[in-house]
Order: sequence, then C-alpha cells, then structure tokens
Amino acid sequence: MTVRTRFAPSPTGYLHIGGVRTALFNWLFARQHGGQFILRIDDTDVARNVDEALEPILSGLKWLGIDWDEGPGVGGPHAPYFQSQRADRHRAAAEKLLAAGHAYRDFARPEELDEERKAAQAAGRPFLYSRRFAAYDDAAAAGFVAEGRSSVVRLKMPREGALIIEDAVRGRVEFAWEREQDHVIQRADGSCLYHLASVVDDHDLEITHVIRAEEHLSNTPRQAFIAMSLGYPLPAYAHLPLVAEPGSRTKLSKRKLAQYLKNPDFKQVAEHGTRIAERIGLTADADTFNPVIVDFYREVGYLPWAIDNYLSLLGWSYDDKTEFFSRDELVKQFTLGRINSSPASFDPKKLWAVQDHYMHALSVDEKLALMTPFLVKAGLLPDPAPAAALETVRKVIEASADRLKVAGDILAYADFLLVEEPAMDEAAVKQRLAKPGVRDLLTNYAAALRTAEPFAPPALEECLKRVVEAAGVKVGDLVHAVRVAVTGKTVGPGLYDCLAILGRERSLARLERALPQCG
Ligand code: GLU
Repeated sequence: MTVRTRFAPSPTGYLHIGGVRTALFNWLFARQHGGQFILRIDDTDVARNVDEALEPILSGLKWLGIDWDEGPGVGGPHAPYFQSQRADRHRAAAEKLLAAGHAYRDFARPEELDEERKAAQAAGRPFLYSRRFAAYDDAAAAGFVAEGRSSVVRLKMPREGALIIEDAVRGRVEFAWEREQDHVIQRADGSCLYHLASVVDDHDLEITHVIRAEEHLSNTPRQAFIAMSLGYPLPAYAHLPLVAEPGSRTKLSKRKLAQYLKNPDFKQVAEHGTRIAERIGLTADADTFNPVIVDFYREVGYLPWAIDNYLSLLGWSYDDKTEFFSRDELVKQFTLGRINSSPASFDPKKLWAVQDHYMHALSVDEKLALMTPFLVKAGLLPDPAPAAALETVRKVIEASADRLKVAGDILAYADFLLVEEPAMDEAAVKQRLAKPGVRDLLTNYAAALRTAEPFAPPALEECLKRVVEAAGVKVGDLVHAVRVAVTGKTVGPGLYDCLAILGRERSLARLERALPQCG
C-alpha cells in the first residue's frame, strides 16, 4: 500500500501555526513511507476570494519546505484538488446513500425539530429526531411536497452499538451511536455539507491516513458512517493533540493576541518582530501579522527549518532529550506512535532557542544572503546592492556574531553604516551624551583616533583606554557615549568594530557632529 496523506485547509487568508504542525506531520509521515502528500483545498463554505485567501497558505507551506505531490499549482492524477470543484461527486454520493437507505429526505420544518428538541430537554433525555417527516421513497416525498415543504438529506445514523476506531495517537476510541444525530449531508438547495464532501474526497484521492487536529475527532463517527455506507474502506486515523496557548491547555487562537502579550516570552517575540516589520513598511495588525501566524516568522526573518523543527516537537518527541533534527533525520525518526495525546503548549521561548541554534550554525555568507533582502526592503540598500556595500554588511555580520537572532535584526545593526547621517535616538543622546564632561572626552578620543594605527579594533580600544585613564573616568562612560555619537543608538556590533568598519574619516566626522549635543 502506498501511504497517501493530506492537508486540507480552508482558504482562510492566513496559515496558523497549528495548521502548519498538522501539515508537517502529514508531510513527515508520507515522506517517511515513500508515499505522497496531497494538498486539498476545502473551499466549499468559503464566500470570499479563494485565490487571495489561499495565497498565504501556499506560500507559507512552500517557504517551510512542506512540498506537496498533488494539489494546487502541481496538479495530479486526481485533479481537481479544490473541494468546490468536486460537487458532482458529492451529490452522486448523496444519491447513493439515499438509494441504499443510509440517508433520507427530511421534510421537517425548523420549528418542528425545535419542538422535539425542547421536549427531549424537558424530559431530560438526549434529543434524537423522531424521523416523522422522513421520506424514503418518491411517493412519500411527493406527499410532503404537496404540503409545501422542502427537504434536506439526512444520514440515517445507527442508534445502537458503537463505532470503535484504533487511533494512532489516542489508541482505541469508542463512540456510542446513540449519541449521534441524523446529520444533514445535503441542503435544500442541493449543495452538500462538508462532512460528506470530505469523506468522498478522501476516498477519491485515495487517502490512506487521515492525520488531523483533535477537534475533528468528534466528526469521525459521522464520517466513518458515511464511508462505510458508501462501501469505502476506512482510512487510518491519527488525531493530533491541539496546539495550545503558552502555558495553557486552550487552543491557540490568533484572535487572542492581546491576552498572549501578557506572557513575557510571547511579548518579547511579538515586539521584536513588530519592530522589524515597521522598518520594512509592514503594518503589524493582529489579523495578518502576529506570532500565531506563519507569515510573521517569514517577514521577520526566521529560518524555515527552525520553525519546522520547533513545530515537530509540539506533541511529538523522539526521546526526552533530542531537540535538533536535520530534515532527513526528522523524516527518518518521526513516528505517529510517539505523538502525545495531551495538548502541546506553544512556547515562544523554545522556538527562539531553536531559531538561535540554527542561526548560529550559518556561515557569514549564508547570513549575508539571507539578510541582504531585508536591507533592500527597508530602503537601506539598492537592488542589486553594490559590492562595497555588501562587504560592509558582511563585516557587520562578522562583528555581530550571535547577536543577530533573525535575519531582520540586520536592520538595527547595519543601518548606521548605510546612511550618511543616522537618526539620533533622543533618549540615548540624553542618557549618554548630554552629561557634563562628555564633550571633552569625545574631543580627546577623536584626537587619539586621528593617529591610531592601524585603524583596527585593538588600537582603537587602546586609544580609548588611554583617554579614560587620563580623565579618571570609567571605560563605560566613554564607550557608551562614542557608540551613541557614531551610531545614533545604544545597540549594535561591538564599538571598536563599528568604528573600524566606518573608517577613520567617517568616525571622526560623526564624533565631530555629535559634539554640540554633548554636555
Ligand atoms: N478543512 C478541514 C479543516 O480545515 C480539514 C478537516 C480534516 O482534516 O478532516 O480543519
């Protein structure tokens, strides 16, 4: 048997972190078994522009390296891969279920169903429809039509016994049939409902393993009933633990951003990303740009494999220690059996640590390639960037070492070198420059820099030490002041590296220019 898995998102306009985890596990399982991973778009209930709402999902998956063998953009033998284009198949299945007596046309009016529901409630028993407006043949149907009624198609669900499935994550799960309603599968206008469509599509696409979020577990009995009634073999099921909020067991939701920002780790990641986004002209609105959505990480410059690796650990583990996996290792080691069934809490701090690990492993050239587009986007470099400017950026990267955590961090580290007159951070000027004695210190350091040879970090440090010793002040007093004077702010690569990369003339000019602001 060839393993075939699928990720079946609705075109919502964004790719949720939890959705990626589902896609990733399906992809890993298919790749491990040399099978196929299919992307199907569940767009039956989507009113808005599907292409537009799909784009962030497709580009997000591509960025993460989660490639699909069949689906939008690549086609395949089971096309179309859009549920809305498979409506004929869904209707044919509804007809088949009707013909076999596994479904019926129901002519009940909403208020009649309500009455039954209320009566059940009053009697303290679960509601089970009496089926008194069910029509199993054309004659019965004609009678109801003559009364001016219209119909939907309902499943004739079993009312005794149980469905037992062996879920790859949750083990044996038993569903009592008496708890199931006669679910509607086709509306009065002839359109079919999601559960029918999903089962028919899974079968047509020859899906062998349905690996999906836990919230779909409760849909399994009605879907299995449809499949069995249509004579389809049941797929294997694996219901993944939900991706929960930081430190909680509740589902992670993009709408609760304000609440999550109370968590210090989440806040740090969100604010750090927002600062980068603002510099490249993105509006950081909660709907499209927040750490629950994959675009956030792409725009800010996380490494896609860091996201994949981190998400692979949301609910799955190889053992209790191993945290880092190459792509090949993960494909080899992943097993459904080691997925935990309890909620997996999204931990921004851990993600940050995984990102840090992979960033650290990159060469300067790799970082340069990754970071240059951010400088272009922020308008700090032209496209294509001149070789001399790239050389400057390379030096900044070298000098910044592990302080650049995501690609977008380069903006705050290289900007002062790429503009002639960097903006001065007012708070930094007040704190570091506008203090008594700073003007003399800077003047003396500038004098020393004129003759420093070579104009390289060790000599520049030597000069600074001499100036502070002569003045009887602390090293920090001058270091911070010089940094603000030449870069305009308090963060960046090491000070002597900054000066060396700027060069003697530019460093002196900036010190000179800062003097009027000094105390
Ligand atoms: N379209 C469904 C969703 O977005 C897929 C459900 C399933 O995987 O069966 O949740």
